[in-house]
Amino acid sequence: MTSKKRLVLATQNVGKIHEFERILEKSDLAIEVLGLRDFPDMPDVEETGTTFAENSLLKSRAIAAFTGLPALADDSGLCVDALGGDPGIFSARWAGKHGDDEANIVKVLEQLHGESKRTARFVCAVSLVFPANHIHHHEEIVVEGVMTGEIMQAPIGSFGFGYDPIFRPDGYELTSGQLDPMIKDEISHRGQALRKILPFIEQLI
Ligand code: IMP
Repeated sequence: MTSKKRLVLATQNVGKIHEFERILEKSDLAIEVLGLRDFPDMPDVEETGTTFAENSLLKSRAIAAFTGLPALADDSGLCVDALGGDPGIFSARWAGKHGDDEANIVKVLEQLHGESKRTARFVCAVSLVFPANHIHHHEEIVVEGVMTGEIMQAPIGSFGFGYDPIFRPDGYELTSGQLDPMIKDEISHRGQALRKILPFIEQLI
């Protein structure tokens, strides 16, 4: 008898976990998905990389090594053209405290005060890394998804997380904080990146 294949999802962010779970559930993968809550002793991973891909790999490598299981990690953020691509990899802690969504939104809106060029994009790098005892341990997979749009003058909507209430995706009248979460999954940077990596999960785990 073979035991069920397992994968660890490397994020504590509840908003992201819900998005991951919805997309993975849709895919009918015969894989048990664990979260970091199943490994409470896992030390925090320092995000010292300079790109989304580097930070994603830092997390998936550390978690695969600690858990002995294949690990899937993402690193994502908002890049605003008029701010030279900021907050970028610093999106989660743009106003100082990690994960203070409200303060982050206030800071971006202040920085864009009076600015007419409001184009921006969400970027997500998802990586899949295998532990040392795994047949594919020499392979590291990294893929990216991008959702373009513009920054609103004020927040609207209560769905999603992070900067969703101030981001209107191209082609939509609503912010991603107003969009039905299923629609956000279809167009989002994270949805795109996850769908790109699903075939690798199916083939390699
Ligand atoms: P990470 O956990 O280091 O990847 O930080 C990601 C940060 O980028 C989040 O805390 C949010 O502020 C922002 N972010 C990433 N993806 C999204 C999204 O889908 N909607 C809104 N904000 C997002």
